[in-house]
Amino acid sequence: MTTHPPPAPAAALMQQLADFAGFSDEEGALTRLYLSPAHREAVAWLRDRMTEAGMSVRLDPAATLIGRYEGTRPGLPAVLIGSHIDTVRNAGRYDGNFGVLAGVQAVAELNRRGERLPFAIEVLAFGDEEGVRFPVTLTGSRAIAGTVTPGAFDVADRDGVRHGDALRAFGGDPDRVGEAAKRPEDVLAYLELHIEQGPVLESEGLPVGVVTAINGARRFRITVGGMAGHAGTVPMEMRRDALTAAAEMILAIERRALAEPDLVATVGTIEALPGAVNVIPGRARFTIDLRAPQDSQRDKAAEDIRAALDGIAAYRRVTLAVEPIHAAPAAQCDPTLMDAFAAAIERAGIRPFRLPSGAGHDAMALATLCPVAMLFVRCKGGVSHNPAESITVDDAAVALDVLLDMLRTLKP
Ligand SMILES: [Zn+2]
Repeated sequence: MTTHPPPAPAAALMQQLADFAGFSDEEGALTRLYLSPAHREAVAWLRDRMTEAGMSVRLDPAATLIGRYEGTRPGLPAVLIGSHIDTVRNAGRYDGNFGVLAGVQAVAELNRRGERLPFAIEVLAFGDEEGVRFPVTLTGSRAIAGTVTPGAFDVADRDGVRHGDALRAFGGDPDRVGEAAKRPEDVLAYLELHIEQGPVLESEGLPVGVVTAINGARRFRITVGGMAGHAGTVPMEMRRDALTAAAEMILAIERRALAEPDLVATVGTIEALPGAVNVIPGRARFTIDLRAPQDSQRDKAAEDIRAALDGIAAYRRVTLAVEPIHAAPAAQCDPTLMDAFAAAIERAGIRPFRLPSGAGHDAMALATLCPVAMLFVRCKGGVSHNPAESITVDDAAVALDVLLDMLRTLKP
């Protein structure tokens, strides 16, 4: 009888990610909604992988699957490694899932070598990061941090199923979600590996990067009021065209965002009213999404944009209404953990590179509980939320090595 060496951890991880993508609510595409049948199957499968990796496994009241690998003695504070296993509709297989399965694979590797660290490791598979099914998000990670929004379980999905009922049917318990919260003294850090979902690492020619912060966002709804009129009879110099004013405003927003690194501003929707080919638009509505790694930087940009818009409105004799519709603070990654990731990357012979995260992640919620850090992995073309999402086995290997090396250097 011949014995085969165990598969290289990264190859095993890639195979697991392929297998895991089979748990879908939709035939022929990956759609795994929170608390759905596919989520249930994914949890059952993951439970087995965690058990094989030497972890004790439980589902917490907010439906987060938690695998725990004890340290040099039982009951030590834990380093949490997590991400989400829900997906958008017609998703790629790496967003979220990579961070969870990489965490399990790292523990499997420690377990295979009989290695215990001076802290426990808990791998967390959150169920609700994408916020696709219910009008809530980060339920699992907020439950761990003890910050679930009141009323979060009273909302319903588009079929009228209440969040609380769906959670109960899944094996969770909305009335006991408070018990899912970790005490700060039981948690050393939260680490999240995630695909970048953007093109920066690829353009730098790097497999991984250290995340500095998860950008905070502010969103506004803008209404520009002019005067509707006949497209044929009102002379150009007498018009108060709301849409041309909005167009000038949008370019001013773009200019402001271009003026400094890491700041991004997007006008994603626009509407002209009444909306007819032969009518001068009397009203225009658009939205602004503004993000930056520092809240102060973002807020200064918001002020500058407001001033620019006021100036354009005055000069074009239109009214301007600015309505804030969303605000989320930026979450800073922990400098010590960032340095530990960077040192591990350097030891792997790779230039350590730091970048902010433009997208939101579970780490945002955990940042209120403990120090957090994220490692981004290069993804092809920066494509994400798309079946074409792709990473290489070599990059997965680097990410795994860096994670394991970094864990071995962490001091409790
Ligand atoms: Zn994600």
